[in-house]
Amino acid sequence: MLGWPIKTRTSSKMPSTARDHARICRGCWDQMRVPIPIRGPLAFPFRVCGITRSKMNPNICTICERSFSFVKKQRHISATVTILFADIRGYTHLSERINPVVLSEIVSLFQDQCAQAIWNNDGIVNKQMGDGLMAIFNFPIKIAHHASAAVQAALDIQRHCTAALNDLASRQGEPAADGVGVGVGVHTGLVEIGEFSTFRSEFTAIGGAVNLTARLESQAAAGEILVSAAAAAQAADLVAGAQTRSLSLKGIEHPVTAHVLGKGH
Ligand SMILES: [Zn+2]
Repeated sequence: MLGWPIKTRTSSKMPSTARDHARICRGCWDQMRVPIPIRGPLAFPFRVCGITRSKMNPNICTICERSFSFVKKQRHISATVTILFADIRGYTHLSERINPVVLSEIVSLFQDQCAQAIWNNDGIVNKQMGDGLMAIFNFPIKIAHHASAAVQAALDIQRHCTAALNDLASRQGEPAADGVGVGVGVHTGLVEIGEFSTFRSEFTAIGGAVNLTARLESQAAAGEILVSAAAAAQAADLVAGAQTRSLSLKGIEHPVTAHVLGKGH
């Protein structure tokens, strides 16, 4: 008789896998405790059935990306998450002055650097909007300190984008690309997560906390990260010593205090 070693798992801990290249989907595991193989030979039959790694984060799969109501057994849920918005400041103005080839290089460089920083901190790139993006931390991958993870991702975005954009500008000899920068907003709050469109099958987050993050980002200058008081309270070590700024945000009644990171922080 062939003694194939059959292992059974009774532990509720995630099977020991490298965090950066999980062999099973971290979203399905965190949300349902179901191991869906996404790398290695066991992933092959799943790939044949169309279950692959998600573009939102390569450590989650297309089940948790597109089958929200199946995963959560509800159409939408309330969850406390940290939202991050980032965009290329002055993009419209830039697009009028710059060679379109260089412009497209700037956009793909921005999207790639942001995605890497977000994935390294276990967030997902939920939406990409050309010169901007929206990321969610704490869904579907659970993160104990999701505000810290988002602020760390924002710091990584600024560091990597600034270096890469400056390098691109000098390589292309494109003076208009000089000083191109990124603005980031980070806020923690309660959102509704679900599939809210009948013709798109991916989940997203909606609610006041999402709008506030977008407004914060719109006030961030190139190189700046604006962190709301709610997110800063959960990421105290990363925002220690940061200046604060009082902002009047469109559509939000009271002034909002933001902690300002970046530019030498
Ligand atoms: Zn999954």
